[in-house]
Amino acid sequence: MRRKLVVGNWKMYGRLASNKSLLEGVIAGLSGMNAAAYAVCVPYPYLHQAQEMLRGTSVAWGAQNLSQFAEGAYTAEVAAGMLTDFGCRYVIVGHSERRGLFAESNETVAAKVDAAIKSGLTPIVCLGETLAEREAGITEQVVGAQLDAVVSVVGVAALAKTVIAYEPVWAIGTGKTASPAQAQAVHAFIRQRVAQQDGQVAQGLCILYGGSVKPNNAAELFSMSDIDGGLIGGASLAANDFVAICRAAQN
Ligand code: PEP
Repeated sequence: MRRKLVVGNWKMYGRLASNKSLLEGVIAGLSGMNAAAYAVCVPYPYLHQAQEMLRGTSVAWGAQNLSQFAEGAYTAEVAAGMLTDFGCRYVIVGHSERRGLFAESNETVAAKVDAAIKSGLTPIVCLGETLAEREAGITEQVVGAQLDAVVSVVGVAALAKTVIAYEPVWAIGTGKTASPAQAQAVHAFIRQRVAQQDGQVAQGLCILYGGSVKPNNAAELFSMSDIDGGLIGGASLAANDFVAICRAAQN
């Protein structure tokens, strides 16, 4: 059986003081809860703070992006090895805000996934369609192409070292959640597409749902057979909400 995972994506929010109280709330709220796994992906400048506060707790930490390059004259980029220096376990790759606002292509995302895996990080690879693509009936085509681009670079076996996050773009930060059935259908499609190449990897693959997950809808989403937890944006910024969502993943 796959273990559930809940990951907070803080995006570009937080300051030292507010992070401290948020992390204190998360640590206290999750203490003694071990049935699922938990993590927060914080802005780069706060990785040290996350490391200092979360070391020795049940909450892992990570970043929200990385460079596809190992090092070099790439001003303002951050390499995978820099993230492992700060004890990161996870790194979000290909979030729709990176794809949409910063023009990250499927090829760039695939190169970043490769860089993360080679450094021992677990990339959380985000896939998802826009509203226009869903309405045009091409959700599977879009998500399939995003997935295939990664597999063509890292190979299907390496997916065992990744987490996939299905995040319909129209559900992110909008308060509009995919229904459990809508999300389950795409999760099953992703798993099946991987199974066409490697059944064992597909069975073990952790596929998170992301898009306006809140305490009041998490349990139903997480009860679907191919939904293995969540990638949580807005609700990860309030300790009580994040802990409540984590609790829903325990049951
Ligand atoms: C996200 O940023 O990955 C996300 C899912 O955001 P929200 O939960 O706010 O929709």
